[in-house]
Amino acid sequence: MKYLISILSGFWNLLVGLGVTFKYMFKTKTTVEYPEDRKQLADRYIGYVKMMYETEGEFSSYTKCVACMACVVVCPVSCIQVTNEKHPDPTKKRIAKEFILDYVKCEFCNLCIEACNFDAIVMSHDYDVSMYDRAAMDMILVKDMKHNNDLYEESRRQTGAEYKPIISPREREIVEVINKKEYEERLKKAAAKAAENTPAQS
Ligand code: SF4
Ligand code: SF4
Repeated sequence: MKYLISILSGFWNLLVGLGVTFKYMFKTKTTVEYPEDRKQLADRYIGYVKMMYETEGEFSSYTKCVACMACVVVCPVSCIQVTNEKHPDPTKKRIAKEFILDYVKCEFCNLCIEACNFDAIVMSHDYDVSMYDRAAMDMILVKDMKHNNDLYEESRRQTGAEYKPIISPREREIVEVINKKEYEERLKKAAAKAAENTPAQS
């Protein structure tokens, strides 16, 4: 009798186990095939600092950074270095020649973003930029957009994963809304200046 109870109990436990498996067969999958697939991050997620670029007009693809040094001063771990040169746009004084950010030191505190009055940098949704060489984490975010993306691609090359930039809502807002607004305002100002300089017809 004891032997029979033991067999029935084992069979019952097997059915309970299979029941759990069966229940999960019809639930929505939560496993993500990383790095090919990535989960949608919360809007407020803070990833790597990313340089923003003009997207409209003559100076399109130039960095929005005017080398004001506000982010350099506010950074609690002094991990930003900015060098400058004359801005090719005559309405602006300076442009960042090199914007170097040491990601080994960066705390992802967001203070530099808050200090920037030019929407030149954002906290992106990129979270897995990694290198085998510590020196390579001294990333140079320069005025050329392609070079900036190449840096992230290099990281993926080293770690064997394809680079898939994830656009944060702030990046999208700057590119789609703020840049357009700024560009239109600049055009208006240029037109007003041109009208001022045009001698009145008598
Ligand atoms: S996120 Fe913080 S630590 Fe990183 S560069 Fe900006 S201010 Fe410095
Ligand atoms: S990123 Fe912004 S705060 Fe930093 S130097 Fe450039 S313009 Fe100034």
